[in-house]
Amino acid sequence: MPAPSKGEKVFRGIAVSAGVCRGKILVLHHARHIISRRELPTHETAGEIERFEKALVQTRRQVLDLQHRVMQNMGAAEANVFEAHLLMLEDRVLLDEITRLIREQRVNAEYAFHAVAERYAEVLVASEDEYLRERASDIRDLISRVLDNLLEVKNEFDLRHLAESCILVSRDLSPSTTAQLDKTYVLGFATDIGGQTSHTAIMARSLGIPAVVGLQSVSEELETGDYALLDGYNGTIIVNPTDQTLFEYGQLAKIKASLEEKLREIRGQPAVTLDGKAVQLSANIEDQRDVETVVANGAEGVGLFRTEFLFINRDSLPGEEEQARVYRQVAAALKPHPVVIRTLDLGGDKFVSHLQLAKEVNPFLGWRAIRFCLAQPELFRAQLRAILRASAEGNVKMMYPMISGLDELNQANALVEKCKAELRAEGVPFDDKMEIGAMIEIPSAALIADILAARVKFFSIGSNDLIQYTLAADRTNERVSHLYEPTHPAIIRLIQTTVEAAHRHGIWAGVCGEIAGDPVLAPLLLGLGVDKLSAAATVVPQVKYIIRRLKLSETQALAEFALHCESPTEIYARCRQLARDTAPSLFESKT
Ligand code: PEP
Ligand code: MG
Repeated sequence: MPAPSKGEKVFRGIAVSAGVCRGKILVLHHARHIISRRELPTHETAGEIERFEKALVQTRRQVLDLQHRVMQNMGAAEANVFEAHLLMLEDRVLLDEITRLIREQRVNAEYAFHAVAERYAEVLVASEDEYLRERASDIRDLISRVLDNLLEVKNEFDLRHLAESCILVSRDLSPSTTAQLDKTYVLGFATDIGGQTSHTAIMARSLGIPAVVGLQSVSEELETGDYALLDGYNGTIIVNPTDQTLFEYGQLAKIKASLEEKLREIRGQPAVTLDGKAVQLSANIEDQRDVETVVANGAEGVGLFRTEFLFINRDSLPGEEEQARVYRQVAAALKPHPVVIRTLDLGGDKFVSHLQLAKEVNPFLGWRAIRFCLAQPELFRAQLRAILRASAEGNVKMMYPMISGLDELNQANALVEKCKAELRAEGVPFDDKMEIGAMIEIPSAALIADILAARVKFFSIGSNDLIQYTLAADRTNERVSHLYEPTHPAIIRLIQTTVEAAHRHGIWAGVCGEIAGDPVLAPLLLGLGVDKLSAAATVVPQVKYIIRRLKLSETQALAEFALHCESPTEIYARCRQLARDTAPSLFESKT
């Protein structure tokens, strides 16, 4: 329960994943390591000591390298600072104590190392001598380096050793870290930076973990152990909530439970408007484990399988066999509904550590998605063959991300033809008629949609990127989040252009960006003629709920208004009004 001496404090940010949770905070900003004590069987202690010694050797190499670079760039005096680190790495008294602890108490290396080294640091902190006190920060720096190596932390948080449930608070969380979050322990998370459509936010929605981002300096102001309530509907984190606040949130939980009941009732019903327009409503997934959530939320298959998450958080690339197995499993599990597999979209805010991609100044404008794949034909070929093999299931479609012009589309299609010829020659079955589509998420693609439409079987509008590229507003940067406006007339016109081009060429156009899962914006998309929507499985029931209460004619009137209105705010207000009037119970948790 909250400490009675501290008052309630509310921090406001951007709500990115709905839900409320409460519990103790774990701040990841200062301490990136979670050290738990593990008892080892006696026969494992020698191996543990060896692991510890390897980490020391690795750390020594890193410190020497760093010292060398500092010497070259800054000079001998600055480089000398690292002598203290090197001396500590050779301090026999310290090291012997650690190995003794591992051997005699049979504990894991990081626990023994941290316990002993931290005690040294504390003695230094308590010293009267200023010089010695300053050495404490050296030893802490070194502790952190050794722990990085022991826990194999690569500038990422290691959340494998969480032992109790908590609300994570940190400056940032990468999409790959977020993908590892274990819902058993992580009740929710809050970060200083981030935006509504960053992949971290998308992962949170997909996992169904309440999350708030863009809280500015919350990771510095909160402390591990603080008791807080995180409100992922309204984008707040409330530290030391009062009894009154807790009561209000208790009421909210009751309202939400009754809404959940209503949503469950329509789970098996189609997404069809009151005047009979059926909309295919499918889900976005990140890996095969998400299939369960797709079915549980009544989504009609998968409209976007973000395959890059198969490539993240591992030491080697998934080969053709592994990919084919995963894609086939997903397709088989969701039959007869379609599964749209998107080819690899690495880059932007999604990186794979073992590929050692060079850091770029503008990663979202750089070597990402189809650009990366066309430059890595072997890697791309393995994925294309795997998707083709899975297409034998009969319900697979494939699409390319980040198409900016015709050449990329032609090159990718040529590679597909080559893969098909190979498979044919090998006698491997595949669906020769598998539909191939292009994502429309770069303004240039939307503007030449008529040219692209003649070469593909469908369009899937990636509004997350389309908005950031059209409005030059980084989707992960909370400082420009006010400019990231889905109802900007430029976005509405680009969507309309794309949909019209698709229909003129007899193909369908869907939206798989986050706006498709927003009950405020989904009606506008229907009014603009969008044929299919795909969103995080957890929000599919809400979108279905509102579609079933609307008339297509109402959405068309809304689109008509939007196409003639100059102001993004007014368009948004009109969308919100229609949504609130149509489905008030969806909005009862919003303040
Ligand atoms: C998009 O850009 O809207 C999209 C669906 O792809 P991603 O979010 O993975 O970039
Ligand atoms: Mg995209």
